[in-house]
Amino acid sequence: MYVMRAIETTGYNIYFNDEGYSTLHQLLLPEKYSKIFIIADTNTSNLCLPNLLARLATNVEIEIIEIEAGEINKTIETCTQVWHALTELGADRKSIIINLGGGMVTDLGGFVASTFKRGIDFINIPTSLLAMVDASVGGKTGVDLAALKNQIGIIANPVAIVTDINFLETLPPAEMRSGLAEMLKHGLIADKKYWQNFTDLSNLTTDDLLTLIHWSVQIKNNIVSQDPYEQNTRKLLNFGHTLGHAIESFFLEDKSKTTLLHGEAIAIGMILEANISLQKGFLKQDEYNEIKQVIMSVFGKANFSRYDIESVMKLLVHDKKNTFGAVQFVLLESIGKAIFDQRVENNLIIKAFEDYLD
Ligand code: NAD
Repeated sequence: MYVMRAIETTGYNIYFNDEGYSTLHQLLLPEKYSKIFIIADTNTSNLCLPNLLARLATNVEIEIIEIEAGEINKTIETCTQVWHALTELGADRKSIIINLGGGMVTDLGGFVASTFKRGIDFINIPTSLLAMVDASVGGKTGVDLAALKNQIGIIANPVAIVTDINFLETLPPAEMRSGLAEMLKHGLIADKKYWQNFTDLSNLTTDDLLTLIHWSVQIKNNIVSQDPYEQNTRKLLNFGHTLGHAIESFFLEDKSKTTLLHGEAIAIGMILEANISLQKGFLKQDEYNEIKQVIMSVFGKANFSRYDIESVMKLLVHDKKNTFGAVQFVLLESIGKAIFDQRVENNLIIKAFEDYLD
């Protein structure tokens, strides 16, 4: 059996399953913390909180703060509600926040914690696949500004991350797929061997999933540890995200469209950015075909038309990774090897969209 050893990062550790709960037991001591505030959304409060409370062995008083689920609520308004709740419930500088949820909760809860009274401790307990392999790890916290993704935020590390794979039992299939997108990304940018696990998903077992989650966190953590503030190598994690975020914002803004999950938008972004890598002469045709085939087999084609391309292109201008007005891309040289800070001409982007829609 694969041993889910804790993963060490700069300043905190990521614990898995049972080891996670024993760590919580050691961390949450009355001499260390005055009160525990668990932030959960409407779904994780129903489906995950009872299990967490049953396993949380602590004498510290616990308060629950529930927020509305969904990306649409990842806003400064929700933060204000939580800051008020913390104040009314008597939170002080020795309080600790536990974020129990997907990436929406860990992003928002981490931001709330690191700004409340100039920063209090927090622990992430990710409950979605996406949050386990990506959002809860790496210290990025924040909220959206209207349709603009993650415009407001800071980098702040949790005290620990506790990942309990059993939470995935209640996660809807579409949300599982959404998390899978970031796992595929980790393979594409950094580890061909990892990617090869996904070329045939038909025989995947729960044990395989455990291994793949742990492996994915290691890939992300290796990259983040080299460059926590995204000066260079960390930019690789944005593969698929330059166009993916613009597509996600476009779907968030257009009320006539069903919202696209984060991972679903990133999946399209990865196909488009792999296509641009092909057009630029970096990526070989057979590898591009493999990438497109694997991603399409999981996600299918999005409900998107030629007329939407211009609107998405306009949203690209707001990408946070832009510097001096130029849109920057991560492109693939091959499966498992990526390069950052690549400028791409608009006609290549349009061509990539057209190929996707053909
Ligand atoms: P999410 O938190 O909105 O969760 C998706 C849905 O699943 C929600 O409805 C949630 O209530 C539900 N859910 C979560 N766990 C569940 C469970 N165990 N059982 C049943 N339902 C459950 O979104 P997400 O997909 O987890 O994460 C996306 C967010 O993460 C985006 O806001 C994105 O910007 C952010 N993100 C952040 C980083 C980072 O480095 N900070 C990286 C990637 C993504």
